[in-house]
Amino acid sequence: CGIIAHVGDGRALDPLVTGLEKLEYRGYDSAGIAVKNGTGLDVWKCSGQVSDLKETIANVESEARIGIGHTRWSTHGPPTDENAHPHTDQTDRVAAVHNGIIENYEALKAKLIDEGYEFTSDTDTEVIPNLVDYYLERGNEPLAAFQHTVNELEGSYAIAVVVDENDSIYAARQGSPLVLGVEANTYFLASDVPAFLDHTDNVVYLEDGDTIEVRADGVNIVDDNDQSVQREVEQVDWQP
Ligand code: GLU
Repeated sequence: CGIIAHVGDGRALDPLVTGLEKLEYRGYDSAGIAVKNGTGLDVWKCSGQVSDLKETIANVESEARIGIGHTRWSTHGPPTDENAHPHTDQTDRVAAVHNGIIENYEALKAKLIDEGYEFTSDTDTEVIPNLVDYYLERGNEPLAAFQHTVNELEGSYAIAVVVDENDSIYAARQGSPLVLGVEANTYFLASDVPAFLDHTDNVVYLEDGDTIEVRADGVNIVDDNDQSVQREVEQVDWQP
């Protein structure tokens, strides 16, 4: 239902939590966050409110600068801690958040189970981190692994993914909104502008079929013809 992501030269955890709070008005049943620490990914998630998630992380000191957050409105599987996003592959190498529905997840899940993958949730979303891992395992660079994954998905989605091998966030949209927020040395991705409006009102509206790699030093947007494209930065007229 709601997505917020942060890549920048400041700490990620606080703007992720505030971003989730700003998305609460849309309605949700679970919340979660994944950040990239020095050695891997940390994930915290639970059913219930963002305030419940805040209790879980109350004593966490995280220097992470890269992370993703989600408020879930369940479509596949009840609102449980296991079904909350972010979802990871079994080695915790890839974490993903997703808005929307992956229509062909059953076929993708069956294929991955044949390949030895294990699933721990009822969601359609869990195929995403596992597919990214599948393509990483076959020698693809992270951007290519993400693009191969997105090419296999049918349905509607906005997705943000973090991997433990680099300092990028990968994202894509098809039939579900995703906006890039641009600040000096910091980027946000969100399903809705209010999630980062405290930080910046400079935005790039992504288009259906776009995939994007976001790093602290720049972004690469690839359209559905596989071409790198420039998209205009607009100043939005919203009051925080
Ligand atoms: N289909 C996904 C799920 O049930 C995502 C739902 C959403 O948009 O929050 O977990």
